[in-house]
Amino acid sequence: MPSDCLFCRIVNREIPASIVYEDDRVLAFNDIDPQAPTHVLIVPKRHVASLNDLQPGDDAMVGELVRRAAAIAGERGIAAGGYRTVFNTNRGAGQTVFHIHLHLLGGRSMHWPPG
Ligand code: AMP
Ligand code: ZN
Repeated sequence: MPSDCLFCRIVNREIPASIVYEDDRVLAFNDIDPQAPTHVLIVPKRHVASLNDLQPGDDAMVGELVRRAAAIAGERGIAAGGYRTVFNTNRGAGQTVFHIHLHLLGGRSMHWPPG
């Protein structure tokens, strides 16, 4: 677990975060710079840098991230109206923290294509 990884440090409670969900494998917390009324980051507790580093054995973990996003959207009352889920991968797509995280954005209208 890289000691210089921001999200590993949040998982390890070395840095505070506004946590909205936790289990043995997954942590979800509010984005510090929210881009929508709901902007939650869902991360695996185990460090994986990006989607490019996923292995076949990670399939269940990826499913847990996605299903947790849907569950939080349901709890927030934004599931029916619609929400967006995003994995940014590498710098050209805007990834700034190299520990996989699924953005859950909702509570406002979304536009397509994204910037
Ligand atoms: P990305 O650009 O896809 O790598 O997303 C990284 C996200 O992490 C951005 O939306 C940041 O606002 C968010 N972020 C950075 N530092 C923190 C922090 N300490 N707590 C919560 N979210 C953070
Ligand atoms: Zn990490």
